[in-house]
Amino acid sequence: MSNSPRSKEAKEREAYASPIFGAQAADIQMPVDRLNDEPVEPRVASELIREYLSTEGNAHQNLATFVQTYMEPEAVDLMADTLEKNAIDKDEYPMTADLENRCVAIVEDLWNADQSEEPMGTSTVGSSEGCMLGGLAMLFRWKKLATAAGVDIHTAQRPNLVISAGYQVCWEKFCRYWDIELRAVPMDEDHLSLDADAAVAQIDDHTIGVVAILGITYTGRYDDVAALDRAIEAYNRGTKIPVRIHVDGASGAMVAPFVEPDLKWDFRLPNVWSISTSGHKYGLVYPGVGWVVWRSKEALPEDLVFEVSYLGGTEATMAINFSRSASQIVAQYYTFMRNGFEGYRQIQERTLAVARHLADEIEKMGIFEMLEKATEIPILCWRLADDADKHWSLYDLSDRLRMHGWQVPAYPLPENMQDVTVQRIVARADLSMTLADELLQDMEVEIGNLDTVVSVVRGGDADLSQISRPNFDHSGRSAH
Ligand SMILES: *Cc1c(COP(=O)(O)O)cnc(C)c1O
Repeated sequence: MSNSPRSKEAKEREAYASPIFGAQAADIQMPVDRLNDEPVEPRVASELIREYLSTEGNAHQNLATFVQTYMEPEAVDLMADTLEKNAIDKDEYPMTADLENRCVAIVEDLWNADQSEEPMGTSTVGSSEGCMLGGLAMLFRWKKLATAAGVDIHTAQRPNLVISAGYQVCWEKFCRYWDIELRAVPMDEDHLSLDADAAVAQIDDHTIGVVAILGITYTGRYDDVAALDRAIEAYNRGTKIPVRIHVDGASGAMVAPFVEPDLKWDFRLPNVWSISTSGHKYGLVYPGVGWVVWRSKEALPEDLVFEVSYLGGTEATMAINFSRSASQIVAQYYTFMRNGFEGYRQIQERTLAVARHLADEIEKMGIFEMLEKATEIPILCWRLADDADKHWSLYDLSDRLRMHGWQVPAYPLPENMQDVTVQRIVARADLSMTLADELLQDMEVEIGNLDTVVSVVRGGDADLSQISRPNFDHSGRSAH
């Protein structure tokens, strides 16, 4: 009886009719380390997972990340509609492959590649993959040049890579994976980005290349790529193993073309041979998509281009990852088409305006020394001023802001400056002026609280009842 189709139908109807948080969810355990024995009804499974995830914080208040947290609903729909397409299946999805090629061409144009040099490029999962490929191209070129110049590339001396100490972890990975010595040029108070002369002083016959960063993860500063290009040009005149630059433009390569078109950091500089960026940072797409471009055929060693024939037709591939959804690539094309040059310019300018407003107001609080005030990318970064005379740290302030939902990380600067603690905000397109003002008010409240708590702890006569709680009633706040 219970196996008859009719009663099964009735059971299903009953399941749909019962409230998710009534009988349905009551006996469902979310699996932890082994599959559940029985299937779970889709709306119950999705609701339980959604609820579980909802406790981890609000992406718009995460001011730690460069990665996009807003896309238009039309873009999200388009992404959902293209999730099932595998980007590597270029034979099966020629139109998708065409959109990827158009994106590469658009990026080449933004970075002033000269089409007569036959630039080449590909989509990647993000900047990490782009940097890995840029680094590998440098390694392969170096091996060839060094061998031709009679340098023994098999001695105990490892090849090396020169980069600012403010590098992102992907470069540490690259060097570890391929057994390359990472020569970090220290940052100091006067050089919060790469010191070109100090970088060139580190170059020798085993240097595969120099990386310039646009901008430094820690502070947002741009390396002075033009100065580095000049210094390298001079170095190259006296060597058989010319050194070239890879620009890690994870964030800045999608900001500078729109807001500082006259700044020369790209293929207008003769020694910049490859550039990578994250489409999911200021390229304005959800993760993960990135782009890497080489200025010419010569810049990308043939050994890194692979022909595959098993998907029907023969295709060249140079990315590390093989299968992945085409939806991010389609979404990048959408944002390019939707915004155009002017749309990108407006979005980046507005994001910069919010970041600069935050920087000005935080500076006015009078206790911080600003290290970066969103001069180039929408990042601000500060330390407690030496004379602030505070008995709390930026870690404490970061914790207190977390109570309001804000994620504003504090961390030490890289080697040579590691005793300096900084705090950083990355502004993105979805951080409105209104939200920024909320954050500023929350900062003021929490600075007051920290001052009071610390004086109580130190035996002062402050009144603990003065400590204000996070204010969830925003109705009384002034509008800006
Ligand atoms: C974010 C970042 C990376 C890594 O980029 P992903 O797209 O997250 O892989 C590399 N370099 C710099 C300078 C970055 O800011």
